[in-house]
This record gives sequence, C-alpha cells and structure tokens, in this order.
Amino acid sequence: MSRFLKQRYQAMEAYTPGEQPRDMEYIKLNTNEAPFPPAPSVLEAVGKEDIALLRLYSDPTCSALTEKLARLYGVGKENIFLSNGSDDILNFAFMAFGEKGARFPDITYGFYKVFAQLHGVEAEQIPLEEDFSLDYKRYCAGGRLTVIANPNAPTGMSIPVWQIEEILRSDPHRVVVIDEAYVDFGGESCYPLIEKYDNLLVVRTFSKSRCMAGGRLGYAMGSAAIIADLEKLKYATNPYNINRLTQALGEATVDAEDYYRAMCGEIIRVREWTAKALEALGFRVLPSQTNFLFVSHSGIGGKALYLALKQRGILVRHFESQRIRDFNRVTIGDKRQMERFVETVKDILQEAGYENK
Ligand code: PMP
Repeated sequence: MSRFLKQRYQAMEAYTPGEQPRDMEYIKLNTNEAPFPPAPSVLEAVGKEDIALLRLYSDPTCSALTEKLARLYGVGKENIFLSNGSDDILNFAFMAFGEKGARFPDITYGFYKVFAQLHGVEAEQIPLEEDFSLDYKRYCAGGRLTVIANPNAPTGMSIPVWQIEEILRSDPHRVVVIDEAYVDFGGESCYPLIEKYDNLLVVRTFSKSRCMAGGRLGYAMGSAAIIADLEKLKYATNPYNINRLTQALGEATVDAEDYYRAMCGEIIRVREWTAKALEALGFRVLPSQTNFLFVSHSGIGGKALYLALKQRGILVRHFESQRIRDFNRVTIGDKRQMERFVETVKDILQEAGYENK
C-alpha cells in the first residue's frame, strides 16, 4: 500500500476471487463457470469485421441487446439495465441505494460486504438459520437496502417468490435487490414483480447459465425510475463499459434460448446424480437449485478435502469463515468430470481411513 491511498480504503478488504492457477491442468469446479461452450450460433456471431470495428466506441445504450431482453421477458426497454457483469450492477446498487445502510445474510455472496465497505454503507448481516435456510421475516421492514441472492451462494438454497413479495410489501421505502445469478438452475424468478413493486431490482448474469463468464455481461430489471438511477451512475463512471464484441455475443445468446435451456437441464441432471453419489459416501449435501453443491463430511475437514482434491488436480472452493469451514462448494461440471470427482473423493476418504458403513 502506498502512502497516497485514501484513508477510507486502507482498511478495506477487497474481494478474493476463486483461484485460477496455471501450474497444471485442473478440473475446475471452483468458480461456478459452465462446463459447456456457448451455443454454436454464438461462436459464429463475431467475425473479423466486428473486430475491425473495435476502432469505434461501443453503443453505450446497448440498444439491440436491451430490445431483445425486453422482448424475451415481456417488459419495457426502460426496465432493463446492462453492465459489465452483475458485479458491476451490484456495485452501482450499493452506491445508489445504500444511504441508510444495507442488510444481507451472514453467509452469502462475499462481494456484498466489500461493496458496502467500498461505499461506506453500514452493513447489517443477518445470520441464516441453523440449517442454512433464510427466514424471510427477518428481512421485512427495516428501512435499509436489502440484498438477497436467490438462490443463495454458497449454500445453493432458495426462498419462494411469495416470501420475496412479503419482503417487498413490508417496506416500500427501501430498495430490495434480488440477485438471481443462479436462478436458471431450478429457482423461481421474481422478475414479474417489477410491474407491481417499484422498489425491486432483479439482477441477472450471462456468466453462469449463458456460458459467458469471460464476456462480462450482466443485466438488471426494475422500475423505470430505478433503472434511470443506475444509468446515471454508469454514465458517471464508464458509459462504454460493455465492449461491442460482448454486446454482439449477448444478442446471439438471447436468440439461442433453447440451447441454454437444454444445457441447464443437463447440469441439473448431473447435479442430482452427484448429490446422490456424495450422499452415498456419507456427505451432508445441502439442497441446491444452482449449478453447485455445498457439501461437508464428518470424516474429513473442509480444508483437508479441498487440499487433497487440489493435489489430485481438482479445484473446489473452500471458505475459511467460521460457520462454513467444514464445507466445500463444488461447481457442477459435465458428467465425466463429476464421475472423476466422485471417484477421487472416494479414494481420499479411503486414505483418510473413513469407511462408509
Ligand atoms: N452474484 C452471485 C451470487 C455470484 O455468485 C456471482 C459470481 N461470482 C455474481 C453475482 C457475479 O457474477 P458476474 O459478475 O460474473 O455477472
């Protein structure tokens, strides 16, 4: 740290992204990326002519992509906001709506805490229940920006839309952000509620169910007024924050809905297979509506399992925080990767002297 950094950033702890080691080829089950490439039509959506056009700025309004998304969801263009990944949108949401503080679960996406610190937003972290479920009543009223990942990460568990509606209804004077990064893997989206509640912001991403984590594309749906607020902040920081190649790929992605639906279906099938296989090995597996499983085992610590897997070329995500340090978050890969994963886990348990009875 230099002596020039503003004091308010000196103690700030930045987000730690999942590791991306280059020392050998790993089976990467640690950052919830898709195991499949984008749709064939997306692979062909960008050519030399588009690369040549990089000499020009991209469309800051993302008009073509906005129109496609508006048509897909049956909402107005003024209800859609696009930005450089959903992290970017969450950042704007904390910047814009956090005046009276923010409220989110103790175990959730780690970036919420970072954004709160970054923008000097007082954070109230509400503990999840003993079984990692979320009691919606604890988010009713309260007057603070409320941020809920639904389904939640890293637990993978979700709450039904009627509970989100109760939260919205309980206090119309604060914004409720529902982060639906993983909703396409079996969750229920609450975006139809934007018509009824002008304090709702639904945040989505192309990174997981649209196989485009490296493209950096996220979008949000909300009332025209909330979307205008986010636009204002985008135009106050970086209006061209989605490059023209990503915009073109995003448009082709929206046109390939069937491919992505089928892909999500396959991931759900492999997830259920993996969950059963792990339960048979004595694991506790939290119910998941996402493209990952959150798992623990009484015979081996979370960190020990993470390290043993890494040594054998498989990366999963381990978190050090107190309540979840027995667990690992395992992204669902393709069937072959998950078979390899389960076999490797079996070997590790055997070596650790654990016998499944
Ligand atoms: N929300 C949640 C709950 C996530 O897990 C992630 C992925 N790390 C994001 C948002 C951010 O996704 P992206 O910026 O790639 O759209």
